[in-house]
Order: sequence, then C-alpha cells, then structure tokens
Amino acid sequence: MSLTTYLRGVCFLARFKEEIIVDAYKNAGAILERAIREGEKLVKPGLPVLDLCEAVESRILEEGAQLAFPCNVSINEVAAHYTSPPEDATLIPQHAIVKIDAGAHIKGYIVDKAVSVATTQELKGLVHAAERALERALEVVKPGVCVSLIGEVIESTIRSSGFRPIINLSGHQIKRYQLHVGKTIPNFNTKNLLDRVKPGEVYAIEPFATDGVGVVVATRDAYIYRVLKPALLPKQLAEQLKKHSSLPFAARWIKGIDRTRLEKLLNHLSKRGVLASYPVLTEKSGGIVAQFETTILVTEKSYIAF
Ligand code: MN
Ligand code: MN
Repeated sequence: MSLTTYLRGVCFLARFKEEIIVDAYKNAGAILERAIREGEKLVKPGLPVLDLCEAVESRILEEGAQLAFPCNVSINEVAAHYTSPPEDATLIPQHAIVKIDAGAHIKGYIVDKAVSVATTQELKGLVHAAERALERALEVVKPGVCVSLIGEVIESTIRSSGFRPIINLSGHQIKRYQLHVGKTIPNFNTKNLLDRVKPGEVYAIEPFATDGVGVVVATRDAYIYRVLKPALLPKQLAEQLKKHSSLPFAARWIKGIDRTRLEKLLNHLSKRGVLASYPVLTEKSGGIVAQFETTILVTEKSYIAF
C-alpha cells in the first residue's frame, strides 16, 4: 500500500469516527429537546414536581438515549440541583419560575440543556433576560474566542434588562461520560484572557439571571449524587448504580430501600467520600432565578448547537 493510500484511509476513518460522534450528539440533543419541550407544556401551578421530573426522564429513555443526570426542576430562589427526592410531594406554586434542566447521552456523548417557564406574566421579564443572554452568547462563540468575552456578553445582556447574573454558577466543558470537566464558561467578565474555546471542544453555556444579589449558596439538602469509589459501595447499591458509573444519579432512582434508610445511607457514603453529593443551591438573598442552557461543539470555523 502506498503512503498516500494509507493516509487517505486514516483520514477516512478519522472523519468516519467524527461523523459518528457528531451524530450521537445530534440525536441526544434532538431527543432531549423533545423531552424538555414536553415537560415545559406540563408546567402549571399544582403539578407535582415528581411528575415533571419523571415525564422528562422517561421520554429521554423511551426515545433510546440515556440519562446524563437526573432531571432538575428548580423553582424560584432555588437555582439548581433540585430533583424530586423519593415520594416528593412538592407542587409547582402559583407564582413561579420553573427551571427544567436535563441531560441525555448516547454512548457517553452528553447534551445538557435547560429552559425556564414563568407561570405569571410579571416573571416573564426575568425569563426573557436569561434567554436573551444565551442567544447573545451564541452570537459571539467561535473558535479562539475567550471564555471571558462570552461571560461579558452574558453579564451585559442580563444587566441591561435590570437583573444580575449569578457569578458562582457557570457553563462548563463536557467530555465523553464527563459532565463537568476542563474549562468553564463564566456568566460575567472574569478578565481571564487565557482560556479560549477550541475546535473539537464541547461546551454547555448556561446563563443564570436573578433579581437577587447574584450569588448561590448550598443548602443542607441533596438529592443528586455521583459515585466516586465504586469498590466501596454496598452490594445493594453497586448493582443499581453500575450504569451511572461516572454520571450523577438521583436518590429516587434507587429501588428496594425505604426512604429514611436510603437518606441515611447516601449521607453516610458522601461523608466517607464514596459518593459526591450535589446540594440544592439557592440564591443567597432569596432572589428568583431564571436559566437557559444549551450544548455546542466548536468546529474549525464555527460551532454546532445541539
Ligand atoms: Mn444543565
Ligand atoms: Mn450544565
């Protein structure tokens, strides 16, 4: 075989593999989009949050993708990381911004998306500010752009609507089977000129807007976990958590252990470092929070949004 033929073969295989990867992202993204849209339609005061989480998750699974993490339904001053605990009785209140943040993956290629829905007219301005911030951020994304410029655009868009960005929540790089890894996309201008987005990298961009001070704090509640040391898991959990080896899971996904015992067990395992826990995050001053999020793959000249 001549060298040219060989190199052509290598190129073909590389391109073929790239196409398979992009297709996996596209399919995961399309499935996730439909699941979130369906969830969005269900949002109304009085709806059990558990029903919403389960509707989004089961739609993702029915369409043949896997869950990259539990469906988060964070309401009002709860900014992120709320998913229904087992037997959750929480209902969507009358006056609410409901953030649906979900993730789907195909063979580890993860897409992470979020939308916000306001139940009353007066909350729509805040929702719109976060949505517009994501649109404007996507207008400046291209290979070589500083992540802080993206943050600056997010911040100025949100501030020009009279709100504040949440400065300690950010977008993030995504790798295969890894949800948060590598560089971050800030929601304000960090003046960091070193981190730039590069072709081949995948990012979730997620502006958070609030009418509060713009900082989140961790609460004592956690309903989402991730396995850190699989070898130290009790047998009962090890079996059930096998398919979520590197990705977050919900306490409510674990079957066959009663609620109180499960809560204690997960708490204990987190303290021992066997599990990582993701505490529910709320806005420090009690401000209401809106979020939009999408996942992109940076290409040689532009990007593909999933
Ligand atoms: Mn998300
Ligand atoms: Mn994210």
